[in-house]
Amino acid sequence: MLPDFRVRQRDYLLEISRAITQELDLDNLLARILHVSIEMLAGQAGLIALRDDRGAWSVAASIGVAAPFLGYLEKLLSRISEHDDPSLFELEEINQVVQQLTRIASFGLLTGVGLPLIVHQKIIGVIFIFRNYAGVFSSNDRALLQSFADQAAIAVFNARLYTQINRERQRLNAILDSAADGILIISADHRIERVNPAFVRMVGIPAEALRGHRHEDVIVLTSQKEGMTLEVAERDGWPLTPNTTLYVEGDLKRLNGVPLPVGITYAPLMNPDGVLVSIIATVRDITRFREADELKTTFISVISHELKTPVALIKGYVSTLRRDDANWDPSVIQDSLTVIEEEADHLTELIENLLDASRLQAGVLSMNLSDLALGPLIERIAQKFQTQTTQHVIVVDLPPNFPVIMADENRISQVLSNLISNAIKYSPEGGPIRISGQVRPEQVIVCVSDEGSGIPPEDIPFVFDRFYRAENIKRTTKGAGLGLYLARAVVEAHGGNIWVDPKTGKGTKICFSLPKETKQK
Ligand code: ATP
Ligand code: MG
Repeated sequence: MLPDFRVRQRDYLLEISRAITQELDLDNLLARILHVSIEMLAGQAGLIALRDDRGAWSVAASIGVAAPFLGYLEKLLSRISEHDDPSLFELEEINQVVQQLTRIASFGLLTGVGLPLIVHQKIIGVIFIFRNYAGVFSSNDRALLQSFADQAAIAVFNARLYTQINRERQRLNAILDSAADGILIISADHRIERVNPAFVRMVGIPAEALRGHRHEDVIVLTSQKEGMTLEVAERDGWPLTPNTTLYVEGDLKRLNGVPLPVGITYAPLMNPDGVLVSIIATVRDITRFREADELKTTFISVISHELKTPVALIKGYVSTLRRDDANWDPSVIQDSLTVIEEEADHLTELIENLLDASRLQAGVLSMNLSDLALGPLIERIAQKFQTQTTQHVIVVDLPPNFPVIMADENRISQVLSNLISNAIKYSPEGGPIRISGQVRPEQVIVCVSDEGSGIPPEDIPFVFDRFYRAENIKRTTKGAGLGLYLARAVVEAHGGNIWVDPKTGKGTKICFSLPKETKQK
């Protein structure tokens, strides 16, 4: 071997040392190592095979080696890795495989050498170099190749570690970015280091504007419902162990002024010496839980009130009638029985409504569609209600030939009854109640209007909600706030709409539309 060749070898060694310590991309690094190794040993081709954590081998880089050879080699390598105990694997074994393969594949024209990449006494890979001139590799070649193989091994190890860390970081980022809960990473001295997009959406402040701010300036809880704030807990010595999380519930102050009900869990991150390094805060929007809670409370109070009143009335009348010492006039008995019957009807209706509401929630409110002559139905219901009131005049005003539509007769009767009974109930001073209709190309529209107390504009968006009753009528009238909720459900199940129509003058006008050809939803 020529002396200047030696010099070149040394130069290459220096180059690769420099290059490999700087290169963190594994593919680039391997390509570089291989390229320099081939040149340094005046070879023609080469490859690097790496072993993964589970002991499986694969060719990670190659130059000048035909694909079939690589495929064949990978197959042989994988057979070696199937060894019961990967530590039994000997470099010699694999070297022999390659030597043999090289000779066969090249008709003895190539010679090859393999050198292990060893880190922490473990073989993490092998470099093979092939060259096409006679003679084996000299001991100098081997020594040289081994010395940079050692450095290359460390570089490969680092690059793999780096790739792994990068992958972990990407995974962590993806988790943070896609989490539905707001997540904040806070330093031990309460500086916000990082927030995820969900938190940004919650507070409406961009991530950059939050970074570096103090936790207590960003997380401000009003009307705290449960637990203690991070600041108070820390004053009490939190966290004692890495597993002690902290939970607090309250309304989070926001830039737009609308507080958000949240539950926040703080988890401490400690170093092995038990010193607090960071705090991870998970902020959950608990609006729905709150709403469900409030709904439950409303439900119980409405139901207890609405059920109690008729039951108390019935019981009162019955006890009076039963008194042994009294001899009731037949007209008193008749009046009392009428009240008892009305209240029993009221109870039945309330129970029916409640059952429908719960069926609706369970998604099992069924519709039986058939041909329905809407005009005659409206007339019938109007007459029935007219017999129950002397203060109101119920006027039906429908265009001639009001169409027959596909609908559920009982359910549509229920909607009309709800609207007419509301009109009567909420116009205690009497007046006309008008039921009007319009025919459109695709649908029919029915409206019920009265000249009563009207719905205050601020209540209009909510009257179709479950248990909602406006303040103006709450104290003077009875009701569970279910009528319009159920009416909307029925109309929508028919593919129609229901709305409060803007009304000029006194009172309320509520309209609903039904498609002429109902497609059941
Ligand atoms: P329920 O029908 O369950 O016995 P309710 O009549 O209070 O009770 P809805 O029929 O759902 O409940 O009506 C909801 C609210 O809308 C009423 O409480 C009332 O505030 C308002 N409202 C509905 N119809 C009228 C109307 N014709 N005039 C004035 N307010 C009305
Ligand atoms: Mg009602």
